[in-house]
Amino acid sequence: MQLILTLRSLGVTDARVLAAMERVDRGAFVRGVFASRAYEDMPLPISCGQTISQPSVVGQMTQALNPQPRDKVLEVGTGSGYQAAILSLLCRRVYTVDRHRALVEEARAVFSAMSLANITAFTADGSFGLPEQAPFDRILVTAAAEDPPGPLLAQLKIGGIMVVPVGQSDTLQTLIKVTRLASGYDYEELRPVRFVPLVEGLGAG
Ligand code: SAH
Repeated sequence: MQLILTLRSLGVTDARVLAAMERVDRGAFVRGVFASRAYEDMPLPISCGQTISQPSVVGQMTQALNPQPRDKVLEVGTGSGYQAAILSLLCRRVYTVDRHRALVEEARAVFSAMSLANITAFTADGSFGLPEQAPFDRILVTAAAEDPPGPLLAQLKIGGIMVVPVGQSDTLQTLIKVTRLASGYDYEELRPVRFVPLVEGLGAG
């Protein structure tokens, strides 16, 4: 509950997003010594040297994505699965991909324990999107790219929205909202963020 108040004070005001974040127990996605900090507004380490994002950033990104109940959504960067679980309560179908097989397997186990049956998780290089399931109403990228990847732009429906952190790794990145119009793409800068980089190819574990 304290976390929900923090989210509100940091600009997450969409009632559906707040309700989804209240229902998804972040503690289920964090293991070991960090589990006790799951309800604080901070990023935390997960397996494979990756991080589960800060709840306020998850809330702001989800709100910017503006997912609708009938939407088919792609998330690039499954990580712990926390963001995908929130999306699964807000839209019809969620596809999520990560380059680390171990993370995908752990996230699948949590989805199944939570009976989140509308999420499909794959091990893949998400910079190429998921051509078999494209096009998507919404695409959320949770790793930073130097530019919005071309295949992801191409897999967005007209009228669709993509939210993606853009910038060099290890420097300040900017969260961008891309809207696909009939005539091209509209880009809006949202806020500075810091994400792990989008890396090509599959991970070691
Ligand atoms: N959304 C996650 C946090 C993601 S951390 C959560 O809710 O916990 C970023 C993730 O992006 C990492 O797990 C990393 O392995 C993954 N990643 C980085 N480059 C990738 C790529 N090219 N394709 C798929 N996943 C990638």
